[in-house]
Amino acid sequence: MSKFARPNIRNMDGYSWGEQPEDSDTIKLNTNENPYPPSPAVEAALAGMSTAQLRVYPQPTADALRDRLAALHDVGRDNLVITNGGDEALRLALTTFVSPGACFGMAEPSYSLYPVLAAIHDAEVVRVDLEADWRLPDDSAARFNEAGAQLVCLVNPHAPSGVLSTRAQLQTFAESFNGVLLIDEAYADFVDPGQGYASSGLVEQENVLILKTFSKGYGLAGLRLGYLLGHGELIRTIIEKTRDSYNIDSISQILGCAAIDDQPYARQTWDAVRDARQWLAGQLGQLGLRSSNSQANFLLVEVESGTMTAQDIYLALKKAGILVRYFNSPRLDNKLRITIGTPEQNERLVSALTQLLT
Ligand SMILES: *Cc1c(COP(=O)(O)O)cnc(C)c1O
Repeated sequence: MSKFARPNIRNMDGYSWGEQPEDSDTIKLNTNENPYPPSPAVEAALAGMSTAQLRVYPQPTADALRDRLAALHDVGRDNLVITNGGDEALRLALTTFVSPGACFGMAEPSYSLYPVLAAIHDAEVVRVDLEADWRLPDDSAARFNEAGAQLVCLVNPHAPSGVLSTRAQLQTFAESFNGVLLIDEAYADFVDPGQGYASSGLVEQENVLILKTFSKGYGLAGLRLGYLLGHGELIRTIIEKTRDSYNIDSISQILGCAAIDDQPYARQTWDAVRDARQWLAGQLGQLGLRSSNSQANFLLVEVESGTMTAQDIYLALKKAGILVRYFNSPRLDNKLRITIGTPEQNERLVSALTQLLT
């Protein structure tokens, strides 16, 4: 570690990302990517690009993409900032709304990148433990206020459990919270339409940001494209002051537009993932691997105490060429997070688990 690094950087642990195997035979159910490729329209847009377009700087605020997304969510262009992946959106929220040394709030457990970004920014992290059913305690806004949190990030549907909070719960939280609430909707595309979850109306609240990404819903994790929806004042501060100049490259702007324009294709993949989620939850349940009602593209299954621990199963699956996510942390070490794959991948997983567990 360089002696020149700031003390908080020297003392922090970096993010540990999911394994990305080199060989393409591995079934990757460990990082919640969409099992389906991006729309064919994205391929066509890429083929139609010329490198001459890369000679000049990109449109600074990605306005063509902003306009499409504004129409999609029925908000104004001024309610939107495009970011280099959802992860840049998180970093921007921290650097814009949290003073170094001040407090950042999150639920525990939750996305493991949050405390890493807070540590880089030298912010203090305050955690509120989720209830046994992964719901946020009713008094959490009051507890974050008491700790002086300037920003709280809540994932909805929650990761790693997939449990969905209602819009009313989030609105109540936002109304009682003194700082900025960022609702991380990385997985919201996979919520059952029957749940009636629609959060974009919350942008009228002066302290709400909603994070979205192309990584999961649009099968574009490799592109690095995300955005924030929010109140015009919050968004303007980020656009005009804290974002990198030209933070979205020209290729991403063009491919992002192509992906958004093909809503029927994206929706088809979300439907397929939802159907597979229901099938897989049933199959795994029969093997004794129960999960809470996930509204995301993964299941968090609990391994009952028996001959094999969650870690044993993770290692045995890995040997069989199937990667799932094991977290070696207090409330998760008897669980596995399994991304929903294609029907064929899910069947291979079920037969591997049947061999291990029966
Ligand atoms: C995937 C993910 C994001 C954003 O990912 P990007 O690939 O950077 O867009 C944000 N939050 C959570 C909880 C995620 O799982």
